[in-house]
Amino acid sequence: MNIIFIGPQGSGKGTQAKILAEELKIPHISTGDLFRGLAGELKNEVDSYINQGSLVPDELTTKILKERISKQDCKNGYILDGFPRNLNQAGLLEKITKINKVVEITLDDKLAIQRISSRISCKKCGTVYNLVTNPPKRKEICDNCQTELYRRADDNPDAIKKRLETYHNETSPILQKYKSVLVSVNGDQEIDKIAEEIREKLR
Ligand SMILES: [Zn+2]
Repeated sequence: MNIIFIGPQGSGKGTQAKILAEELKIPHISTGDLFRGLAGELKNEVDSYINQGSLVPDELTTKILKERISKQDCKNGYILDGFPRNLNQAGLLEKITKINKVVEITLDDKLAIQRISSRISCKKCGTVYNLVTNPPKRKEICDNCQTELYRRADDNPDAIKKRLETYHNETSPILQKYKSVLVSVNGDQEIDKIAEEIREKLR
């Protein structure tokens, strides 16, 4: 089964995508991981955009994704997280693969802003905490590596609002395209509950 996860920042889409991927024993492919795992010519090409501070063109991302999903571990399916994020990408994706299900995780903007602005993370090991739902044991200190935690500069309410606007304007329209295979789940629930609902609705 080839599945796409879609949801605004703060909806817990990445966490849920990971949980389901483990259950189904298929790879969870996030755009970030996709770029990080590159080598050789493609890596140079992607780095040249990232180093200039520009977005990696949709065509290039699609080409990299095509290679990734042609690998052996994707033969029973995969979960895409972070791609496609606009209609152009969805159109390109259509040319290289068939999507069986799209899971949308919904969350109010107000809640998303609340959740994201209470996030703090560890620079050293990358662990992300939430001061409300998943706080570190010691205040502002990473449980894993005892490093001081920090708040990302772009996790302030104004920047978050902007990202949510982009989500509503550019990513949400994709849902219409996939409406025959779309499953929607309320993201304002406990992690386990959301996972269970996704499982049931995909059955
Ligand atoms: Zn850490």
